[in-house]
This record gives sequence, structure tokens and C-alpha cells, in this order.
Amino acid sequence: MKHHEAYPPVLITRGKGIWLHDADGKRYLDTISSWWVNLFGHCNPRINAAIIDQLGKLEHAMLAGLAHEPVVELSARLSTITPGDLSHCFYASDGASANEIALKMSFHYWQQSGFPQKTQFVNLQNGYHGETLGALSVTDVPIFRQVYAPLLRPAHVVRTPDWRFAETGETPEAYALRAAAELEKHLAEHHASTAALILEPLVQGAVGMGMYHPVYLQRAREICNTYRVHLIADEIAVGFGRTGTLFACEQAAVTPDFMCLAKGLSGGYLPLSVVLTNDTVYQTFYNDQASRAFLHSHSHSGNALACRAALATLDIIEQDNVIEMNRHKAGFLNQCLQPVQAHPSVRHFRNCGMIWAFEVENPQPDFTHRFAQAGLKHQLLIRPMGNSVYIMPPYIINEEEMVLMSQAILNILNEI
Ligand SMILES: *Cc1c(COP(=O)(O)O)cnc(C)c1O
Repeated sequence: MKHHEAYPPVLITRGKGIWLHDADGKRYLDTISSWWVNLFGHCNPRINAAIIDQLGKLEHAMLAGLAHEPVVELSARLSTITPGDLSHCFYASDGASANEIALKMSFHYWQQSGFPQKTQFVNLQNGYHGETLGALSVTDVPIFRQVYAPLLRPAHVVRTPDWRFAETGETPEAYALRAAAELEKHLAEHHASTAALILEPLVQGAVGMGMYHPVYLQRAREICNTYRVHLIADEIAVGFGRTGTLFACEQAAVTPDFMCLAKGLSGGYLPLSVVLTNDTVYQTFYNDQASRAFLHSHSHSGNALACRAALATLDIIEQDNVIEMNRHKAGFLNQCLQPVQAHPSVRHFRNCGMIWAFEVENPQPDFTHRFAQAGLKHQLLIRPMGNSVYIMPPYIINEEEMVLMSQAILNILNEI
């Protein structure tokens, strides 16, 4: 709140496409999809229409003992489009809850499958999985974690495959394999007590969009298979085309045991998350005894409006051939960003699908806020993380907006 005395929050009164408009009549290009959630712009006519239609039929009904069309259809479609044998859905409202559900379900699975000693989780250095106590326990971002550390379960953190940590001359692939070897060493020793490995496939978002080679995912899947450990893929930020494929796991041809989705799932419109798992896990809970069932009571589980927003989002992805369209857009934006990449202060310029990031070398004090404030002056909503600047635009961004955004970022770099 103290910070807001110097940097007052911008009062947004409406949104249209990639633009957010404030009370003073100024507009801001949403370069970060309002914290990575918005896929097809603000007030998207197709998603709006779906929600309005649903609003006239049913806004919400509890999912215990009841069902409704939107949640049934969404579950069927998610099980079709997600990798491999992921065919069962469990709904919540936010990403952190989805990860907690996956952690609980993995633990519970082992409890009733003859491995009651599997009670521990492994996560990656620099991984982010949300900030409720369970999700924070498997998050390795000090700024979120440090104060609450005494409340958290001890974590088993293994080396990140993020290629920014590679030695000079070491390729991203070689570095990813080195990180995987360390994972293997850890699980060789600790598999008997380990329930699951949780990771963000391909891009570690909260540490400035750290990117890694898909071979790590491939090796992680093999190692988890060898040591009988679940793989939880947190695709909350990277799902729905963000990394260039519908799901990031596809780039390593990997099927996780649990996949967590949120953020873009509803096009960023409404809070909705889901955990997908396979039939083997499902069958372990399929029993007459309630104590063997998976209990995670969630008031707004499978909210009808949110599910309709999700269905409309999936329609757009399919009807507009979005994965292919994004490939062209990414190519164009990479060209626009060449002067940024070549800027003398820019390091580690990187791109994965519809995510771009770079570090600014020797930043001035208070760089993060200064950059964000300069962004507003240049009509950009852009919020660096530390000295990492990233762009994660809604997929509806057009060529004119890409030119404008790239030029503004270059100007900000030169100014500050
Ligand atoms: C945002 C995010 C979460 C948490 O989602 P919330 O809806 O904010 O709880 C978890 N994991 C990843 C990878 C995320 O990007």
C-alpha cells in the first residue's frame, strides 16, 4: 500500500481486444495477458456471447449429486485434447488449488496402493506452483516463500533445467540432461518415500520465464516411470497453446500422471481450474467405502459460467486454427523484436511459442517499477519480474500492435 502512494493503481474502466482503457481515457496494450490468463483479448465477442447465453440458463449448481451440460461437455473435450490417457477431470477455481488436489491425489493413490511410505514431493529449483500452504511447499521462489517457510512441509528441490544456468559453452540440451541426471540421482536414493515430482513444463514462469529443453521432460517421465513416482505437469501458465503446442508436454511426447490447468482455461475470464488424471489413478478411488474416495470439497467446483467460457475458448482455438496462426505471429514478433534483442543491455533473449523474455544487464535501482511506469507512459501494461522483462500477449495481437509494442519496449530500454 505504501508503494501505491508513489505508484497509484490505474483504474481500468473497460477492455477491448488487447487494450485496457482507464478512467482518464488512456489505453494500455496488455502485453502480459493480465497475468498470463487472457488468451483472446478483453470482452471477446464470442466468449461474451457464450457467458451471456449461459447466464440465462444456469449460473451455478453444486457438482455433488448434480451435473450440468457445460461441465460434462468440457470434461469430455479436455480428455480428448490432452495428451495420452488423461481422461478424468476434477475441478476447482484456481491454480494453487489444482496443484494441491494433484498433490493430495498422488499421496492418497500411494496410500491405498500399498506404498504408504510415499509421502514426499520433489519440485524444481525456481519452480512456482501457487501460494496456498501446500502449493507454496513445492514452490521455490524465495520472495513468496521465505517468511512462511516455518509453516511449510520441507521440500526436496532438484536442479532447474533452465538454460540460463548452463555453463559457458554448454548447450541447453546438454544442460537439461545434466539436470535430469541430478533428478535421477535424487530419486534413485529417495523413491521409496517420494510420491510425485511436480514441474512446470518448458517454461518456469515466476522466475522471469526461465525456459528449458524438452529433453528434460522426456527424461523426467522415464525416470519417474523407473522409480514409480508420479509426474505432475503444472500447465497452468503454459497450457492452451502458450508454448507453441496446445500443451507443453506434447513437445516431449510426454503424458503426465496429473495435468493441472487454470488461467487460460476459461480464456482468462473466470476463475476455473481442473486436474486431469488417468484411469489407473481413478480406479484406486473407485470403491464403496467413502474413506477411499477422493475428498476435496470445493464450493464452486465446475461453475457453469466458467465452464461455458472454457468451451467458447476451446471453440476459438479450434475454429481459428490458433496454434498455426500463433506460429506466424511469433515469427513476425521475433522480427519486430530484433532491435530489442540486439540492444547492448539485453541478455538471454529467449522465445518459446507466445512467450518472450530477456534480462536487462546492470539495471538501475528500482528498475522493475521504473520499467512498469515507463510502460504506462508508452501505452503498455508490462511488469518485469526483477530484471527480467517478458511479453506474453493475448493471441489476438495483430501486426500493427506488435510493431507498436516492440518499438515502445525499445524506447523504454533506451530511456531507463
Ligand atoms: C499462476 C500459476 C499458479 C497459481 O495459479 P492461481 O490461479 O494464481 O492460484 C500455479 N502454477 C503456475 C505455473 C502458475 O503460473
